[in-house]
Amino acid sequence: MKAQPKASHYIDGDYVEDRAGSKIDVIYPATGGVIAQVHEATPGIVEAAIASARRAQEDWAALRPVERGRILSRAAHIIRERGRELAELETLDTGKPIQETLVADWPSGAEAIEYFAGLAPTVTGETIPLGRDFVYTRREPLGLCVGIGAWNYPSQIACWKAAPALALGNAMVFKPSEVTPLGALKLAEILTEAGLPPGLFNVVQGRGGVGARLVTDPRVAKVSLTGSVPTGQKVYAAAAEGIRHVTMELGGKSPLIVFEDASIEDAVGAAMLGNFYSAGQVCSNGTRVFVQRGIKHRFLDRLKARAAAIRMGDPMDEATQLGPLASEAQLEKVMGYIATARSEGARLVTGGGRRPMNSGFFVEPTVFADVTDEMTIAREEVFGPVMAVLDFDGEEEAVARANATEFGLAGGVFTADMARAHRVAGALQAGTTWINAYNLTPVEAPFGGVKLSGVGRENSRAAVENYTQVKSVYVGMGPIEAPY
Ligand code: NAD
Repeated sequence: MKAQPKASHYIDGDYVEDRAGSKIDVIYPATGGVIAQVHEATPGIVEAAIASARRAQEDWAALRPVERGRILSRAAHIIRERGRELAELETLDTGKPIQETLVADWPSGAEAIEYFAGLAPTVTGETIPLGRDFVYTRREPLGLCVGIGAWNYPSQIACWKAAPALALGNAMVFKPSEVTPLGALKLAEILTEAGLPPGLFNVVQGRGGVGARLVTDPRVAKVSLTGSVPTGQKVYAAAAEGIRHVTMELGGKSPLIVFEDASIEDAVGAAMLGNFYSAGQVCSNGTRVFVQRGIKHRFLDRLKARAAAIRMGDPMDEATQLGPLASEAQLEKVMGYIATARSEGARLVTGGGRRPMNSGFFVEPTVFADVTDEMTIAREEVFGPVMAVLDFDGEEEAVARANATEFGLAGGVFTADMARAHRVAGALQAGTTWINAYNLTPVEAPFGGVKLSGVGRENSRAAVENYTQVKSVYVGMGPIEAPY
């Protein structure tokens, strides 16, 4: 098989197999063919992963942060050296076009590793004067962290979680999505090659049940999940039993508001990036595009022309701009949403069909206009290349409608009026908002959601809060004044 890993799991610095676990076929979404098989982790595998991570963590935490950073920097370097090979594997695992996986997935993961490698030595406590006595604080690692990934950016997600966890002295057991199990194994292999001691980054495969087992283990101090809201609700609740720390990176239905004074060409480009990149399987996508009525027709005309010119096809061809969805189940879900949008009265501007290409899971870039707030397509996360365009008249109305959702991951505004841009960016209920840009998530900026889209932040200095805890050390400097 084309992409068969040495074994299903990676524990204590090496590949491990246990054929007693149920089989998971890894499907190449462009053809529907099986490219690898892994086995779900048995309870014995989960135990081995947790035990080895626990064994390794204390010594790792005792290193100078600059020494931990040095190992991580080496890993980032190896990822860059093997850029093409890793991008090809990511394309096989996800179906995403190689033109994306070469620049977005592993490169973004490498940046997170570089960033936290450099940040780790700068993380310090503070000294709090109390007259004669004083308190100093220590930022300590949490211990054993569990990472659980989604299938849309499998390797980037593994890196975004491993980088702060490891840099700050924690160990991690990572469970990739069962749809895309391959990238995380490569990360584990690369970290070992870079000098990471065995046990600090273990990978176990499996479906939700394996994730649930990890989340409820009493030795686990923290859970970081990237996934859908319903899974987040279950995982958050399970983690709460043990008062575990959590980071929840969940779904969204983000608004992109385009005012009449915006550059139409830029706004159309951003709306396309925010709906069609990675075949629309991006959590922060601006899937509700609110367009001010005066530019509606011009906006839709340009959108239609540019969407129709998107090159779909073989993801391994560097000219391909849009690949298949990640799985057959996702294909069915997206086609279901397209059918519902039509039946509820949305107007199809372009796309809407499957492309029967080598039995792959391809859906055309699709735009619906005249979408209203009540329609299913304006309320639920589709996670496919399907854009909903809604009309609006005024700013207040647009903001109120944009915020009328249970999600709060992201949002964007296009306008030439800077006062309005900042006003709207401030008023949108979201963890990230963009002004005259969309979907850029540099490692230097915090990323995460509000409302049902999540808690905690990944990337940036903000992630330090999510992978450390503060200890206060009170220092008595004089005699004890006891009343008895
Ligand atoms: P999912 O919720 O189906 O699965 C996510 C992960 O959780 C998988 O690894 C799955 O095996 C595991 N899981 C399922 N049930 C579990 C349980 N009970 N206990 C522990 N683990 C369990 O999500 P998906 O379909 O893989 O990914 C798509 C979703 O992820 C979308 O909603 C998308 O918006 C979201 N997402 C969010 C971000 C973000 O950063 N906010 C990024 C990417 C994707």
